[in-house]
Amino acid sequence: MRVFDDPRAFQAACLNARRTGDLGFVPTMGFLHQGHESLLRLAAGHASSALSIFVNPTQFGPNEDLARYPRDLPGDLAKAERCGIDLVLAPKEAEALYPSDFQTYVELGPLAATLEGALRPGHFRGMATVVLKLLALAQPTHAYFGRKDFQQLAIVRRMARDFDLPVEIVGAPIVREPDGLALSSRNVYLSPDERARALCLWRGQQAALAAVRTGERRAKALELAARVEVEKGADRIDYVAVRDAESLQEIETATPRQAVILFAAFVGKTRLIDNGLLE
Ligand code: AMP
Repeated sequence: MRVFDDPRAFQAACLNARRTGDLGFVPTMGFLHQGHESLLRLAAGHASSALSIFVNPTQFGPNEDLARYPRDLPGDLAKAERCGIDLVLAPKEAEALYPSDFQTYVELGPLAATLEGALRPGHFRGMATVVLKLLALAQPTHAYFGRKDFQQLAIVRRMARDFDLPVEIVGAPIVREPDGLALSSRNVYLSPDERARALCLWRGQQAALAAVRTGERRAKALELAARVEVEKGADRIDYVAVRDAESLQEIETATPRQAVILFAAFVGKTRLIDNGLLE
């Protein structure tokens, strides 16, 4: 495994790797857990594989956790190596990707205006910009994203289509703790009491699914069933929303497999997101 600080050197190595076959790529912000590792193993199934570890400042709001975002480069590199990754981009400084004269950003459409986009202004603009940069550096045949960040995956897919990017965007299942909590780098912030309460998002999802199984299809009723559970553990709910799984727009009736329920809530100071298809 080769680790690069310099984006241009990483790009040269990726281009070289592409000469002999497909390249699978996984962009991350590091502090890798088993959710990331599931993506790394998928990428490692290609002739060559690449990973980026970069806490992207442009996707954090002024009051968000950029400065205290958890980091563990040695641990991440050991995990990447174990998963069979060949090339890693891990810039030490943000300037490596954002020089002082940087000025070009991706402008997004309605997919990014709702849910996370409505609550975290600029988040998806920063995310899409860095993903586009990373795809231009790695030039992979396949790029892997977790469905944990459901809206992010939808936006990246849309961007790849709209910009004719020659890459297949692949979504991978959410990896969960045995009790159902979705793995997240931010779970380390949770105290034992908060960790127990964080399960409310999973319980909300289960409540919505149980209602679907009894024949309930009204989006508002499904949201309410889920919200009752989330309220039991969360300190503040940003949204519990049943949406069309492709457009992410509001729907009245949840058609199985075409509807998704999405959650964002604070447990203590930690903001957690989760989602699941209603099927
Ligand atoms: P992050 O480091 O949080 O930016 O995440 C990097 C990638 O890992 C994104 O595509 C995430 O959707 C994905 N990811 C994060 N948590 C999970 C999880 N629990 N299961 C599957 N993928 C995940």
